[in-house]
Amino acid sequence: MSMSKPIEVAVIGAGMGGLAVAAMLSRIGCKVDIYEQAHQLARIGAGIQQSPNATVVLRELGLESWLRKKAFYPHFGVSKDWDTGAITNVLPMGEAIESRYGAPFLLMHRGDLHEGILSAVPEGILHLNKKLVGIEPNGGRPKADFADGTVIEADLIIGADGVHSKTQEILFGKTDPVFSGRVAYRTTFPASLMGELQIADRTKWWGPDKHIVIYYTTREKSEVYFVTSLVEEGFSIESWSTQGDVNMLRDHYAGFHPEVQAVLKACPSVHKWALVDRQPLASWSTGSVALLGDACHPMTPYMAQGAATAIEDAAVLSRCIQQVDRDGISEALKLYEAVRKPRTSAIQKTAAENTWMKNKTDADWVYGHNAWTEPLVAAADPLVSSA
Ligand SMILES: Cc1cc2nc3c(=O)[nH]c(=O)nc-3n(C[C@H](O)[C@H](O)[C@H](O)COP(=O)(O)OP(=O)(O)OC[C@H]3O[C@@H](n4cnc5c(N)ncnc54)[C@H](O)[C@@H]3O)c2cc1C
Repeated sequence: MSMSKPIEVAVIGAGMGGLAVAAMLSRIGCKVDIYEQAHQLARIGAGIQQSPNATVVLRELGLESWLRKKAFYPHFGVSKDWDTGAITNVLPMGEAIESRYGAPFLLMHRGDLHEGILSAVPEGILHLNKKLVGIEPNGGRPKADFADGTVIEADLIIGADGVHSKTQEILFGKTDPVFSGRVAYRTTFPASLMGELQIADRTKWWGPDKHIVIYYTTREKSEVYFVTSLVEEGFSIESWSTQGDVNMLRDHYAGFHPEVQAVLKACPSVHKWALVDRQPLASWSTGSVALLGDACHPMTPYMAQGAATAIEDAAVLSRCIQQVDRDGISEALKLYEAVRKPRTSAIQKTAAENTWMKNKTDADWVYGHNAWTEPLVAAADPLVSSA
């Protein structure tokens, strides 16, 4: 990429994917601005798993030691039967997974991850209260306009605006994500509320028609997180502000192992979230406007790969852009899609099955992936090529 006049990039959305791609493109010399609809960045009460395929990317942003200071470093990921607690699978984590894949597996508060990635973004480029309402992708440089009347143009626009992406709607027409029929209750709360109870490092309790994942989110085990998946008729709202009924949640999990019930008893409040995904899209870009993260490949959270793959996208997109000048951007976006889509489609499909790690599972194709070094050529479907 010639640096005489930097490529100007507008990123729509300041989630994990938008911040990550903004940080990476800034590092290679692009002039980046981020436009986020929220009035302020809120610290949402939820945990997030970052597997080695994500932490290997974040390492290049200089975030590894900061994340290690904040995050919990689990030694095992355990799958258990919902009632007896019988172990059905153990994933060695800690040093074992780190030496296998060359990067750590970390469990943390979403707010800490978000804050960490934000710290890698140059100051002054994040513009809040900018809700995208339109994009003109064709004819010269693409333009975007916002609800407050702001109009901008850039050499490249990246829609990292989440599962209800306005960018996607503008490029390809409105289609709603598919409600999976399942609901996640989730919360973080002080571990001290559990009294003497110590939970295992990361456990997924598998019931016949529902599950719950429980883990610590801080290095010193001061905070606990859980997330559920269950069928609840008539609820299909996705909003961080939707409160769930803790007593109803406890009723759903009556009969689960006493450890699960003790965690639910200790939790003071919960949020409730409808789980959605989409089939892989036919295309991720038009001209010099491209999608990234949940905007192009939302998935159910059963492999904990949504943010991880958005972060991978950011690395590959920045590598593709680094290879070209301004007039090569649309070709670079096609290459980005060709490299990424087989992998994200395979993860979307596998996540939807909700069997990941229940029993012995080959995790190499997911956790062993390095978005900084994967060849920039059209990729094969990893499920087909690893079969
Ligand atoms: C229950 C649950 C558990 C999960 N657990 C994990 C996990 O453990 N590990 C993992 O890797 N992933 C996990 N995920 C997935 C992960 O949360 C998402 O995949 C990830 O947040 C997607 O990042 P993103 O940047 O693409 O989108 P988002 O994080 O949704 O960010 C989109 C941003 O765009 C903004 N925006 C939207 N519309 C506009 C507009 N019109 N104009 C301007 N800005 C706009 C939004 O306000 C938001 O800030 C989980 C998801 C769920 C539901």
